[in-house]
Amino acid sequence: MEIVLYPHPALRWKSQPIREINDEVRNVVRQMFELMYEAKGIGLAANQVGLPWQLFVLNLTGDPTEKDEEHVFINPEIVRRKGSEEGEEGCLSLPKLYGDVRRAAEIVVEGFDLDGQGFEMTLDDLAARCVQHEFDHLQGIMFFERMTDMARKEIEPTIADFVSHFRRQQEQGKVPSDADIETQLRQLQPK
Ligand code: ZN
Repeated sequence: MEIVLYPHPALRWKSQPIREINDEVRNVVRQMFELMYEAKGIGLAANQVGLPWQLFVLNLTGDPTEKDEEHVFINPEIVRRKGSEEGEEGCLSLPKLYGDVRRAAEIVVEGFDLDGQGFEMTLDDLAARCVQHEFDHLQGIMFFERMTDMARKEIEPTIADFVSHFRRQQEQGKVPSDADIETQLRQLQPK
């Protein structure tokens, strides 16, 4: 398992709900936390490891020893959004790229944890921002699409670099074609 970079087709995929929390899911969650910590991130969505599952993990401290801060969101729904706030975001699928994004200031999110327990959380500040960012991944939405026009203009050349790098890797056969990746994604959907 590895973190895929934009414009990998998994990042454009609308993920499907997980039907059963089994060893496979628990194993994936553990690996996702490890990859997230290695990459110095605070959140990681299943799409970002090439899995079309409605799942993301979060640890706002980014510290692997802070196990109490680890949160797993399975089949999440944002059921309420309040207010609006601009703030800087980055993404492990677009390393070293940052920009201002407007998000709801406060959200209520529902979902299931790794024990299959339903939960509801009211979040603000960084937690609300991060959950909205990861939730977007599950819908196939990238954070730069929500950037302010000015911020987006600034980062457009960098995005273009990511695209040409990815296409070059496909031409060299280091990465499968979009069509092949899409076939894989359909096979990986929750059964
Ligand atoms: Zn991201």
